[in-house]
Amino acid sequence: MDCSREIEGKQAHDPIFINNNNKSKMNHHHNKSSSPPPPCIYVAGPVIVGAGPSGLATAACLKERDIESVVLERSNCIASLWQLKTYNRLSLHLPKQFCELPLMGFPSEFPTYPSKKQFVDYLEAYADKFEIKPRFDQTVLQAVYDSTIRFWRVKCVGMKEGEETEYMCRWLVVATGENAEAVVPEIEGKEDFFGDIRHTSLYKSGEDFRGKKVLVVGCGNSGMEVCLDLCNHNAMPSLVVRDTVHVLPREMLGKSTFGLSMWLLKWLPMQLVDRFLLLVSWLMLGDTARFGLDRPHLGPLQLKNLSGKTPVLDVGTLAKIKSGDIKVCPGIKRLKRYAAEFIDGRLENFDAIILATGYKSNVPIWLKESEMFSEKDGLPRRPFPNGWKGESGLYAVGFTKRGLLGASMDAKKIASDIKRCCEAEAKHHPMTTFTRSLLPATQSSSSN
Ligand SMILES: Cc1cc2nc3c(=O)[nH]c(=O)nc-3n(C[C@H](O)[C@H](O)[C@H](O)COP(=O)(O)OP(=O)(O)OC[C@H]3O[C@@H](n4cnc5c(N)ncnc54)[C@H](O)[C@@H]3O)c2cc1C
Repeated sequence: MDCSREIEGKQAHDPIFINNNNKSKMNHHHNKSSSPPPPCIYVAGPVIVGAGPSGLATAACLKERDIESVVLERSNCIASLWQLKTYNRLSLHLPKQFCELPLMGFPSEFPTYPSKKQFVDYLEAYADKFEIKPRFDQTVLQAVYDSTIRFWRVKCVGMKEGEETEYMCRWLVVATGENAEAVVPEIEGKEDFFGDIRHTSLYKSGEDFRGKKVLVVGCGNSGMEVCLDLCNHNAMPSLVVRDTVHVLPREMLGKSTFGLSMWLLKWLPMQLVDRFLLLVSWLMLGDTARFGLDRPHLGPLQLKNLSGKTPVLDVGTLAKIKSGDIKVCPGIKRLKRYAAEFIDGRLENFDAIILATGYKSNVPIWLKESEMFSEKDGLPRRPFPNGWKGESGLYAVGFTKRGLLGASMDAKKIASDIKRCCEAEAKHHPMTTFTRSLLPATQSSSSN
């Protein structure tokens, strides 16, 4: 069954339709400029922006309900964050049962924490199974709701200059992720530093830094893991810790800390689970403050719940800090040619700096809407679990600060909602050709 028959009955099986004849119709909506308007593509089903795990999960859940979607992706592959912007030693931070996408589990032979390659292989197999074929090299520059025609207009640019396309759709699913753009902080004297400065999105392996003194800025999961990787490649890392941080063992009492926390939360209040986690962490890791890693006042789960700040799950970094292989430093005051001056006045030489300073959403750059998404942080304004749906057919997947588990929950809700909309519209406006084009083919033809 195919739910994406082309508007005005011209499209057979393709979910999209390039309308070469519509230019004159579109002209009065298009900005008056000297260059001709971009080709306009009507999409009968939803347009999903982003072919990461969230976009793929949504496309699969829609497919299961016989709704074809068009997935637009700025890079040339699926899961570009995982394939292009992560370090080689990365594996899933959480056990696989908390990271699988809807409708298809991980292969049973995969380890508890699949490697980056295994995770990417799984996503490739997922896209194949649900026949998801994203349109690559399509960067969405702007999406705006046109209330006169009640369609979203999604403007994309391709690889070549001037290669612009406009997609028009009834539903727009934002799946560009919480990690769309690297956060690169301003550091005084950055331009004076002679060594290599790079964000973790460009860090692959400690191999490139063998024998070098490297300053890693940021003590989240990535910063901690990059330090460990540098140690394992005989580099000499120092870790800048400006903030308080919860470091927990990845496993406790023979179970994953994440799984155990989820289980305990079923029976106990969050504050009590936090106390338990901190007690076991103290028994297993000792007092982290002794090594320069002060804990926040709020417990790890409460903090995650209130601010979205994820605790660090230790995979061996703490042992290297204890042994002195990784030094802990305070905030940087300024950089000099080959050195960093810290806020405590200490000056130390470094060959390179890795910025493990995180990522941010890019939604405010391209989505011309400010009700659903905050312009400040590019995340949905309504807190979890209500941030997935906006007005006028706008949806968000993967912005819950709850990783792949949150993305899967969003994807299922979005697909059900769009299906319900399709059916309701078809029922209430049975005569319009457009509505008929949204129905599964069998239903559509029976109403003819
Ligand atoms: C190092 C690291 C490890 C992680 N480990 C885990 C883990 O173990 N478990 C877990 O649950 N989560 C983990 N996460 C969280 C992570 O965010 C998710 O795993 C997952 O990648 C989120 O999927 P997503 O599809 O929402 O976003 P992304 O994977 O970031 O995908 C978004 C896609 O949108 C595309 N895009 C962005 N802007 C545009 C645009 N304007 N036009 C077109 N396309 C665009 C991007 O190119 C990208 O392909 C980790 C994150 C990082 C950085």
